Amino acid sequence: MPLDGTPHRRFNPLTREWVLVSPHRARRPWLGKVEKSVAPAQLAFDPACYLCPGNPRVEGVRNPDYKSTFVFDNDFPALLPNVPAAAVDEEGLIVARSEAGTSRVVCFTPRHDLTIPRMSVEETRRVIDVWAEQYLELGARPAIHHVQIFENRGALMGASNPHPHCQIWTNAQLPNIPAREMESQREYRERHGSCLLCRYLQLELARDERIVCANDDFVALVPYWAVWPFETMILSRRHVQDLAQLDNRERNQLAELMRRLTIRYDNLFETAFPYSMGFHQRPTDGETHPEYHLHAHYLPPLLRSATVQKFMVGYELLGTPQRDLTPESAASRLRDMGETHYLSAGAK
Ligand SMILES: [Zn+2]
Ligand SMILES: [Zn+2]
Ligand SMILES: [Zn+2]
Repeated sequence: MPLDGTPHRRFNPLTREWVLVSPHRARRPWLGKVEKSVAPAQLAFDPACYLCPGNPRVEGVRNPDYKSTFVFDNDFPALLPNVPAAAVDEEGLIVARSEAGTSRVVCFTPRHDLTIPRMSVEETRRVIDVWAEQYLELGARPAIHHVQIFENRGALMGASNPHPHCQIWTNAQLPNIPAREMESQREYRERHGSCLLCRYLQLELARDERIVCANDDFVALVPYWAVWPFETMILSRRHVQDLAQLDNRERNQLAELMRRLTIRYDNLFETAFPYSMGFHQRPTDGETHPEYHLHAHYLPPLLRSATVQKFMVGYELLGTPQRDLTPESAASRLRDMGETHYLSAGAK
């Protein structure tokens, strides 16, 4: 690659933003040794956890004694369904609009001590079924035009509880990033008559430089324009718009690939690798959105050990994001990881 050794900018065709890559800085001496964090002993059931089966949540609501997944409306929702329509507009400079929506919590399993990399493929498959059901149910509401499924894993990402769970926030309006990504995919389709992400995936598969792992139906890769050190995307090989369109085999394959990718993440620094992840699916605004290609983003903050994270500060807050480790090196390091979880690798 002509730009391998020199500072350059890379373009994200989904968000139409740039990231500054400074590969020469990655040759700086490695400072300090990699700290391995000791995994905290966790209980299968925590009597103090508000997500564990049978435990009380706020205001006395008690969780059922659930056996697989459990969905409930967030007790402290960021969005509310019945918001009176109102708007502020002072000369286009002081502008606001009321926003209706919902927020739910999905517990992945009754087990307090498991996470996706340590759950079975069957257990994760059940979570995918719940995601697909929730997408259809919430998206069918006339006022809901976007369904955002996301997981914050780890205290570093602000997760308030280690119990494996995700959130689903829905909106009347498209949030910033999904709105930009939809516009980019729509314009690409208008210009080329084909799908932006289908074509991007073809280019990545042909080059085989940033692929981390793959199976028959999904590919996990470090995108060319990745901002976070070990950022990845999971792309479906088939051009589908949402999780509900995935067939039986594809859902199993997605569960399998999510497990393999997150085991690699955990093995990288032998820690419960923190990340925010989430799916981008077509808006639920009643249009068919043939331009839209289902995908997931994994955005992890760790840089070189379980305790050293990347910060978005200074130039990145005021100018543009920057990275030293190239996406190609990140992909190569993740590729080198085994797919047996370090905690189940036996006596070490
Ligand atoms: Zn729990
Ligand atoms: Zn596509
Ligand atoms: Zn996206």
